[in-house]
Amino acid sequence: MAYTNFTVETDADGIALVTWDMPGKSMNVFTAEVMDELNAIIDATVADAAVKGVVFTSGKSSFSGGADLSMIKSMFSFYQDEKAKDPTAATQKLFNLVGRMTGLFRKLETCGKPWVSAINGTCMGGAFELSLACHGRVASSAKSVKIALPEVKVGIFPGAGGTQRVSRLTDAQSALQMMTTGQSLTAARAKAMNLLHQVVEPDQLIPAAKQMIKDGLKPIAPWDEKGFKVPNGGIWTPAAAQLWPAAPAILRRETSGNYPAALAILKCVYEGLQVPFDTGLKIEQRYFTQVLQTTEAYSMIRSLFISMQELGKGARRPAGQPKAALKKVGVVGAGFMGASIAYVTAAAGIPVTLIDRDIEAAIKGKGVGEGLVKDSIGKGRLTQDEGAALLSRITPSADYSDLKDVDLVIEAVFEDRDVKKAVIEAVEAVLPASAIFASNTSTLPISGLAENSKRPADFIGVHFFSPVEKMMLTEVILGKETGDRAIAVALDYVAAIKKTPIVVNDTRGFFVNRCVFRYIHEAYDMLIGGVPAAMIENAAKMAGMPVGPLALNDEVAIDLSYKILKATVADLGEKAVDPRHMQLVSGLVESEGRLGRKNSKGFYDYPPKPAKKSLWPGLKDLYPQKKADDVDVGVLKQRFLVTIALEAARTMEEGIVTDPREADVGSILGFGFAPYTGGALSYIDGMGAKVFVDLCEKLAAAYGPHFKPTALLKDMAAKGETFYGRFDPYRVEKAA
Ligand code: NAD
Repeated sequence: MAYTNFTVETDADGIALVTWDMPGKSMNVFTAEVMDELNAIIDATVADAAVKGVVFTSGKSSFSGGADLSMIKSMFSFYQDEKAKDPTAATQKLFNLVGRMTGLFRKLETCGKPWVSAINGTCMGGAFELSLACHGRVASSAKSVKIALPEVKVGIFPGAGGTQRVSRLTDAQSALQMMTTGQSLTAARAKAMNLLHQVVEPDQLIPAAKQMIKDGLKPIAPWDEKGFKVPNGGIWTPAAAQLWPAAPAILRRETSGNYPAALAILKCVYEGLQVPFDTGLKIEQRYFTQVLQTTEAYSMIRSLFISMQELGKGARRPAGQPKAALKKVGVVGAGFMGASIAYVTAAAGIPVTLIDRDIEAAIKGKGVGEGLVKDSIGKGRLTQDEGAALLSRITPSADYSDLKDVDLVIEAVFEDRDVKKAVIEAVEAVLPASAIFASNTSTLPISGLAENSKRPADFIGVHFFSPVEKMMLTEVILGKETGDRAIAVALDYVAAIKKTPIVVNDTRGFFVNRCVFRYIHEAYDMLIGGVPAAMIENAAKMAGMPVGPLALNDEVAIDLSYKILKATVADLGEKAVDPRHMQLVSGLVESEGRLGRKNSKGFYDYPPKPAKKSLWPGLKDLYPQKKADDVDVGVLKQRFLVTIALEAARTMEEGIVTDPREADVGSILGFGFAPYTGGALSYIDGMGAKVFVDLCEKLAAAYGPHFKPTALLKDMAAKGETFYGRFDPYRVEKAA
């Protein structure tokens, strides 16, 4: 029989090699059609007496990315539609749907013939769950092999037997660690955890898998054998008594109870290990059905998987623009940002000319890349040759004429209008007519900078975040006259360096920094109001923010905050900033010399390593302190999330951001906005505009007018609208 997604070839030894290779896709994923075909393959191989066993592998360089999350997203819509008709029947139908993959893998596991999974590359989620249901697992030793059950990162968990099989193969602690963090394992680590039988040279993969069958591999899973014992004796042992009482506390410390899927993993393992395997699968199926009904799962899958993928693939790229082949990029300004921008560009295989005022400064900038390459070689991420090739692509220079053949220039010189003006003119004097000029400014409006350009249609902002090599987001900023070709080239560049772009219109602070400063300013308000600094930082983390606002301000630098406040007063007048904020920041910078992490003195003190940073005790003396018992941590958490979400809503209302996917993804990737919410706008949509508006009004009455809900939000509340409904990102596709 012919399949669309698989080929099946049976050799002279009666071993069927099933190769998964989906047409037109760069990676194999589980879809309804794939599951139907796999089901048919199981039936066919069982029915064929000539088949002794099956080796299952992939025809692509990776094994598989797991379930197609669009399929899971469609389960949400299905459930919502059905729920409106009959909630109980809807939950039952969802439960049945959820069990489909579980049932398929269990059928494979109990089919009576041995299956071996031959893992040739990245093997994620459902694909690893399928492998766990096979009787043998062999992986290639190639560096590209990564094994993970990463579902928790998008708000769900391994719900196709993963929680039950992993915890019956390895000790519970390692199982929990793997699944609650979604960490990637090397093949060697997976083998050490007893999740693989063999790791072999890449060219030995299929022969080794076949050999397992020839050697008489039993078609019975360990847990289906009589007398099977859970590793380390299961739940009722002295060792388990050390683990289980602490596990929920550790999880709470790590997640503040914000991630229902992570808690469900704990429950599945704890409960599942006390019952027979098939009952364990049922328990897992029930929790999975429950988690799928949470706002967190829905919002996280939408933002962190679907939207992120769509934006990465150029959802905002103007139609009709040919793809830009970036043969060479210029970076002007080899300082803190420029040096790293040159590095990530070279790492993407694009030659870079790195320019500074003198050659020494340019060479120093390349040195940053050399340090990063050395680090990567040390960690085994790059070979010596790969590192050398990467560095050979960065050419330091002090001569602007070296930019004569670049396709794109990224300017990262001092944040000073006059310096930038001179650089724009000098660069444009040599730049080819077809090239695009991008500025990495963080505060200067792009339209204003473009006034210095002879070709404002080819002028754009490409705003990186520090540290450039780690931060996944770039903001692409449109000036008033920026043309479609400049947008296309900027987006093609961002895609080439494997970052996620959001496209925003020009405004002070663009999108990310506008929101970030709301977060920091709320912390200033709390400090001024006498909230102990430790409570401010902890409340923010409990709300789901990765870094407390005071620690973040130290990273950004307090003197930079001071400079920005002063610039805002200069441009917009005294009323544009809160005088108490100005007083706090000027006092820290001018009277106390506390500039932030950079001089080891900010809201925190930074003693030499290995000592850890600690909050500066002097903060207590700045304002009369409230007693901890008089502070409501729940309200602090709300203030942080609401003030940021409100700012994100304002950017939509002002037309700065036009697509809710960008505000959501930008808020998570740009400054870690509580990922379980799905982002700043999903936070509002998740609770509903009406509830959000009421909350804003309550906070405005207690903490100031900056919490007042905007006209847009009130209108949405009155009409029962959501951001994804009102600013539907798919409206054009739907209309077509
Ligand atoms: P930096 O001071 O570390 O580097 C600026 C570099 O530009 C220096 O090496 C300087 O010698 C060079 N330079 C100055 N004038 C020049 C000229 N005429 N020709 C060539 N080189 C010249 O500054 P930075 O932190 O890298 O910031 C650079 C830009 O990036 C600024 O616009 C800043 O707003 C923006 N930015 C900074 C951050 C950040 O976190 N630091 C984040 C995003 C964007």
